[in-house]
Amino acid sequence: MITIHIPTPLRRFTANHNQVQVSGSTVNQALQTLAEQHPGLQRQIFDENGQLRHFINVFINADDIRLHEGQATAVSDGDELELLPAIAGGNLQALTSAEWRSQLEDEIEQLRASAAMPWLQDHQDAQILDVRTREEWTSGHIPRAVHLDKGYLEVQIESRIPDRNTPVLVYCASGVRSLFAARTLQMLGYRRVINLAGGIVQWKNAGLPIETPDFLSSEQRARYLRHLAIPEVGENGQLTLLKSRVLLIGAGGLGCPAAIYLAAAGVGTLGLVDDDVVDRTNLQRQILHTEDAVGSSKIESIQSRVRQLNSSVNINLHPLRLDKASAADLFARYDVIVDCSDNFDTRYIINDEAAALGKPVVHGSVYRFDGQVSVFWAGKGPCYRCLYPAAPPPELAPPCAEAGVLGVLPGTIGLLQATEVLKLLLDMGRPLIGRSLCFDALNASFREIRYAADPHCACCTTVVPGRTTEVYDEAV
Ligand SMILES: [Zn+2]
Repeated sequence: MITIHIPTPLRRFTANHNQVQVSGSTVNQALQTLAEQHPGLQRQIFDENGQLRHFINVFINADDIRLHEGQATAVSDGDELELLPAIAGGNLQALTSAEWRSQLEDEIEQLRASAAMPWLQDHQDAQILDVRTREEWTSGHIPRAVHLDKGYLEVQIESRIPDRNTPVLVYCASGVRSLFAARTLQMLGYRRVINLAGGIVQWKNAGLPIETPDFLSSEQRARYLRHLAIPEVGENGQLTLLKSRVLLIGAGGLGCPAAIYLAAAGVGTLGLVDDDVVDRTNLQRQILHTEDAVGSSKIESIQSRVRQLNSSVNINLHPLRLDKASAADLFARYDVIVDCSDNFDTRYIINDEAAALGKPVVHGSVYRFDGQVSVFWAGKGPCYRCLYPAAPPPELAPPCAEAGVLGVLPGTIGLLQATEVLKLLLDMGRPLIGRSLCFDALNASFREIRYAADPHCACCTTVVPGRTTEVYDEAV
């Protein structure tokens, strides 16, 4: 191997290494290899015609190569080459902004828009980096690009592009800010940094594609700031929630807490199914209904409370008692179904129609001091009928009106349901598929029971072709 000593001014192109080992049999080959390993050096050492630049002197074992055979001088293992560029003076030379820019234009590899597209196709591993402001980014950007405002470049680039071997095509509006950003990236050790000459303006003029992102308004950013701070949610997660559609069946004890928290979290569309009116006996636990609302529609009562909290949520009112036909029609329009009902007929209709459409059902139920939450999702795990093939006889399962329920209990269970809904929408964590979480308020304890899909289930064996339970089996 030949050792090439890199002088300080050129070390920014070699990730700050002061020497580089290369192979080759002549000085020229050794320098070519060096430039291949560190492409930023190419323009420093060689001119457009591939000739060694005049202001760079090369020494072999401390002899000027011109004393030998110039670039054709033979080199062998153990030889040492030294590059010595002309330096204006011992002091740092102060440059004007224009001079600095002009120097960078010489030093930084640049591609025009027309050449950038084929280059990107050849370099699928390359990362496009947009260093404009957030406002500029949201008005449209190059597809596949990541955004990092130039002001945050030094502090955040390592988390955005961790591998310094990743080729980076950096751009701004016109290609000037990105030129300075490119230099910064080189100084931080990124080995192949290319500036998009003419920036996104040229890119657009060349008729190349632009992507306009969905983004949160400043008002939405403020409202959901605590979500944005969670990496598992973040801006993309919040945008997902805003586009999500959740159907709540039952506007009572479970439906009220679930609806209000889902609205607060920014779920964009809530559907409410219930044909009942508010009764004074509801007020002990159905917390969105007020004394003024007694006698009026429950879903309208929820709608008005949700509007006070988050006026941007779309609320679809479905004043009906769910049957097979309405369920099939409604479920197709929602992402997640939340079972907040209070009778077995409805629960089986919900299960069967959701299973047929492959939609997840977040189930909640309460009885005196006990509550239960689970997620039924035929195809990914068991359904409600796998767990309870048939409803119990009425004497074993009295309705809430007869059995009674501790007023706070539906709050606990409804919020656990809302939590499962958010997990499903954001595809995070481990949903309660194949598991049921049982809450005993008197004992203040949670207990988890696990159950499997029933191979003879009357529902999911018919609606899920080749049903598998691997997904949930793995989770268990
Ligand atoms: Zn089943």
